[in-house]
Amino acid sequence: MRKRLVILGGGESGVGTALLGRAKGYEVFVSDKGIIKENYKQVLIHNEIEWEEGKHSNERILTADLVMKSPGIPSKVDIVTRILEAQIPVISEIEFASRYTEATIIGITGSNGKTTTATLTHHLLKQDLNVGLAGNIGYSFAKLVLEQNYKNYVLEISSFQLDDIIDFRPRIAVITNITPDHLDRYDYQFENYIASKFKIAMNQTADDYLIYDADNDVIVTHLKHHPVASKLLPFSLTRPIENGAYFKNNNIIITIDNQNIIMPTTNLTLKGNHNIKNAMAASTVAHLLKIRKQTIRESLENFQGVEHRLEHVLKINKVQYINDSKATNVNATYYALESMDAPTVWIVGGLDKGNNYKELYPFINEKVKAIICLGIDNDKIMEAFGGMVDIMVETQFMSEAVKIAYKIAEAGDNVLLSPACASFDLFENYEDRGRQFKEAVRNL
Ligand code: ADP
Repeated sequence: MRKRLVILGGGESGVGTALLGRAKGYEVFVSDKGIIKENYKQVLIHNEIEWEEGKHSNERILTADLVMKSPGIPSKVDIVTRILEAQIPVISEIEFASRYTEATIIGITGSNGKTTTATLTHHLLKQDLNVGLAGNIGYSFAKLVLEQNYKNYVLEISSFQLDDIIDFRPRIAVITNITPDHLDRYDYQFENYIASKFKIAMNQTADDYLIYDADNDVIVTHLKHHPVASKLLPFSLTRPIENGAYFKNNNIIITIDNQNIIMPTTNLTLKGNHNIKNAMAASTVAHLLKIRKQTIRESLENFQGVEHRLEHVLKINKVQYINDSKATNVNATYYALESMDAPTVWIVGGLDKGNNYKELYPFINEKVKAIICLGIDNDKIMEAFGGMVDIMVETQFMSEAVKIAYKIAEAGDNVLLSPACASFDLFENYEDRGRQFKEAVRNL
């Protein structure tokens, strides 16, 4: 009899897993408590895969041999509890798909910088290698395994995807950094969230590599108390690293087993210290996989960045407009403000996730000339920064926020959208927020 694979969640990873599962001989059933998007429904129908929406039917789910849970579904919901009580294994898409490929896997996780680092790594590797890019970035890994069969994969992996792995073992793991985020899914225990990120190295052996930010105390302390089997390749902005990467005099210096390469960073399109870190991580992967030095250097220089991450939109009357809508937490905004090289009109706000704004104070005094609060409830921001700048304005419309910024900014200034908050109070998501910003700028 065919084994039964039940998939919870009919989105990108759910539908990708359904296709791969069917191709591998499973009887597949997709169950989504919400409404499945039309394009995904069409794929399921076209491939004759059974599905339901608006509910989870116990009798069709608790008969599974294996369950794939999409990352958006918390493990505490009723149906997952029942599945676990019935002792049915629950895994994530990366666990499932990695069982069907022999490819070299580069897994990238962290609180911030995953998408940028994964995209940049893919960009460096693709010059010389057959490599796919998938995961949290929005393309299903399972679907790529089924349709493309690449020899290498760069995977962007969230902590939710790592929560449900069993044997997943990337040959190269990257942890970009760990700062508090998503604590609602981890019983408000930062330790649980840290442990989840480190699962990326849980099955690694001494033949595998873990690349990580050695300036991040959370990572360093965790490693001290919970050693891993992997070979460690730290990177640092602040101090020399013998085996790994560091930054000195505008150069990235990478040493692996006494093999040295030096990459100048003065011509990078990516700006900011955080992006030097991302570049160190990505170049270390490329060096490990024997990409030529010249190729790494050229690719670093021609990488244009990712939409909504410190994206330069337009210069109008010598004022630079920058879209950093993806900055949905304080740490991301910290690096955005740090990288500002001119007086800045800062658009901030949205849904607060328990933010502590104190670490931004030094930049406010130094660089921010006006604050425009863009959110339904701006009290916390008004309170945190009140009195620190001459101009503070509130609005609930992106077009108005941009028009106000236009009036305040003078030649040579920056206008920065870096909200430090989630977008769901006024926008569909951070992409919608970023697009509305760009449109408002173009309409000026
Ligand atoms: P993720 O995929 O982890 O959310 P992104 O690459 O999409 O990360 O970037 C999210 C936000 O964090 C952006 O505002 C970006 O400018 C900022 N950021 C990028 N890399 C880093 C980093 N290494 N440390 C801190 N912030 C970063």
